[in-house]
Amino acid sequence: MDLKGKTTVTFHSGILTIGGTVIEVRYEDARIFFDFGTEFRPELGLTEESLPTLLKNRLVPKLAGVYDPRLPGAEDLPAPAEDVETAVFLSHAHLDHAKMINYLDPAIPLYTLRETKAILASLNQNETFLLPNPHVTGTREMIALEAGATVTVGQIQVTILPVDHDAYGAAALLIKTPDAFLTYTGDLRLHGYDRELTEAFCKQAKGTDLLMMEGVSISFDEREEEPDTQVMTSEQALIDRLVELVTENPQRQLTFNGYPANVKRFAAILEAIPRTVVLEANMAALLQEVLGLDAYYYYPTGATFIESLKPEFAISYETLLADQEKYFWQVVAGFDQLQAGSLYFHLDAEPLGDFDPAYQIFLDLLKKQEVTFVRLACSGHAFPEDLAEIISMIQPKTLVPIHTLKPEKLVNPYGERILPSRGDTIVL
Ligand SMILES: [Zn+2]
Repeated sequence: MDLKGKTTVTFHSGILTIGGTVIEVRYEDARIFFDFGTEFRPELGLTEESLPTLLKNRLVPKLAGVYDPRLPGAEDLPAPAEDVETAVFLSHAHLDHAKMINYLDPAIPLYTLRETKAILASLNQNETFLLPNPHVTGTREMIALEAGATVTVGQIQVTILPVDHDAYGAAALLIKTPDAFLTYTGDLRLHGYDRELTEAFCKQAKGTDLLMMEGVSISFDEREEEPDTQVMTSEQALIDRLVELVTENPQRQLTFNGYPANVKRFAAILEAIPRTVVLEANMAALLQEVLGLDAYYYYPTGATFIESLKPEFAISYETLLADQEKYFWQVVAGFDQLQAGSLYFHLDAEPLGDFDPAYQIFLDLLKKQEVTFVRLACSGHAFPEDLAEIISMIQPKTLVPIHTLKPEKLVNPYGERILPSRGDTIVL
């Protein structure tokens, strides 16, 4: 087929699954990819995550001329047929969108919002968050973009716009080629602290030719709520409930953990909790870098000193371990050191849930320790009725539901809908 002067979209992975979305938009001799994570399937019990293993288990797609050519296994992949200009865009810092960025060819530029770059660099400072590449020290180069910035790759123009999600710095992409206007939502919602960002994005995406939209929340039928989980309808509701529970437990050691990328939730905890909130040092440094906030912090045993943290905000780990009334502190390790009878709040922290074999092991450890486990959860993904609202704000000519187990449940009253299979290419 002669594709000269045509825009094509290829769905390399991330179809009929949650995670590992890799989509390619191509126009003549330029192509862009988004995102660059892996599918998360802990039940496979893989003992290593080399490129050949990930390819074999279909956790990442076969891509021509995209992976670091120095990685074993990369040489077995086809080279692109001709010289193409390539760039990769990341919507946000969650692993299913970013985990394999160190496997990307270092010659290919990687663009993301400034906040996502900072979060990824922080989470990966011990080189345990992203997949490690022996040829890359730390985290590969990322080009930080400001909200609303536009990058041009050949004749493809990409504008990055922040949206509300439970990873701060999450973004959607508006993609314009000479013959098409495409939109990628990344992961988004309306029930966090940044609803207006999602709404502003929808306005700019209005009337798009092709909307590639996440549908995580429609994946599940009336989801059986896990008995130990209190599911909250907004970030604010979660904080309100947490304040209630902290207030109801005055003479008790109180600890919590959350997901570091959700920096706004940590900021809200600092603000609202009627105890002195103390964060693990890396989290305090991340909050300082991304939001400019100083928080009390501590170093767990064996942690590395962080220069940017102010000494007057330091609290000793021993003080926290002995406390029952003054502090509300983030625990990330050493759960076996918590006091019997204490209360621990699991706020969408790792391990994330039942699907991860590590979850039951974690619960058993707390039980043995006689620590009460309370789980409060608030989804990072738009509720089903909000997905419909987002579609009504954008009114796409064609809708492509992705990042979901049930794409057929997302409908487009404003035009066509396409349900692609993995590997399909759409020609616009
Ligand atoms: Zn996400």
